[in-house]
Amino acid sequence: MTTTPDANGFFGAHGGRFLPPDLVPVMDELTRAFERYRDDPEFLREFDYYQRHFTGRPSPLYFCANLSRRLGGAKIYLKREDLNHLGAHKVNNTVGQILLARRMGKKKIIAETGAGQHGVATAATAALMGMQCTIHMGAEDIERQKLNVFRMEMMGARVVPAMSGQRTLKEAVDEALAAWVQDADNTYYLLGSAVGPHPYPMMVRHFQSVIGREAREQILELESRLPHTVIACVGGGSNAIGLFSAFLDDADVAIQGVEPSGRGLTPGDHAATLTLGTPGVLHGFSSYMLQDEHGEPAPVYSISAGLDYPSVGPEHSHLKDIGRASYVTASDADAVDAFFTLSRTEGIIPALESAHALAQAMRLAPTLPADAVILVNLSGRGDKDVAQIERMLRAGEISAPR
Ligand SMILES: *Cc1c(COP(=O)(O)O)cnc(C)c1O
Repeated sequence: MTTTPDANGFFGAHGGRFLPPDLVPVMDELTRAFERYRDDPEFLREFDYYQRHFTGRPSPLYFCANLSRRLGGAKIYLKREDLNHLGAHKVNNTVGQILLARRMGKKKIIAETGAGQHGVATAATAALMGMQCTIHMGAEDIERQKLNVFRMEMMGARVVPAMSGQRTLKEAVDEALAAWVQDADNTYYLLGSAVGPHPYPMMVRHFQSVIGREAREQILELESRLPHTVIACVGGGSNAIGLFSAFLDDADVAIQGVEPSGRGLTPGDHAATLTLGTPGVLHGFSSYMLQDEHGEPAPVYSISAGLDYPSVGPEHSHLKDIGRASYVTASDADAVDAFFTLSRTEGIIPALESAHALAQAMRLAPTLPADAVILVNLSGRGDKDVAQIERMLRAGEISAPR
């Protein structure tokens, strides 16, 4: 199955470029550079070097013997992206894009971040490559994610607060784009998920596809068969498309993305974009989107800051339209339950984002035979969420399962 977008960057009805005219030549330059270097042997050699020695790839595929026994039914395997340097899958993409930026002769990196995870991965790779790094972050998010702000600054990045509007991710993106246009000759915009105008969704998928390639090879080696179902959480959709891309041609493998239903499927209480959204344009691309009657992004919410985005990568919208992937939801409570369950049965504390995918695997496993395999992308580790969980426990907002 081909998943390359058409010449205008459309995956079926979704994607493309919806940009002010001054950004079009910049996107064209980026597309040309990506096409030129993606399969260049020297580029691949360097990318592979940093994946091995900086990121720590390949990441293991781990069989959850205890959890699988406890649930009964299918065997649950985890792709351990939580063991990457910096604790999540995001570094796969920042290393790839920063090597490209260097090839393009750029000296400065600019990025936006919501919860700070992409900002931290960007700051780290910019430090590694000796590039100047500016991270735009909503003033509200800076307050909420102080630790990540310190981490970015420790690695030499400048964190610029976005003071307009709601002072969160959307405003940070607006301000980062504006700053980029000012100095596009010297600056590279490093986007953190499989979203944005063409070529970003295609490029981020490419750099994250290592997840699926490794996982497919690993499960064939361990089980001599393909998984019954592969599952990943969907925020912008980069860890999910990275996993899914290797299984799209395997018609017998079911593909499931998991979105946050938060406190419930009422407006403002969730970020279930593919479940409840309608086609719309945000941040330079079209996709399913949670929007109000004026086409403005609707307020979104999830317990996990990495999943509360009102749009979604265009390739996921296409996979939904053609029925190749299905998208389901897990609530805050489901994610918290999965968070504690994995911690206690396997000694692995998952990121709250990844816990959404795990929650769906825990629902599915008991309905399948014992020889079936479920492969879950554990997109990140939960250390970053421990303080939040502790606070919510103390406030009585959640309770630990017995
Ligand atoms: C950022 C993040 C996500 C969500 O981003 P995607 O682009 O949808 O993958 C999921 N898990 C973790 C651990 C993250 O840091």
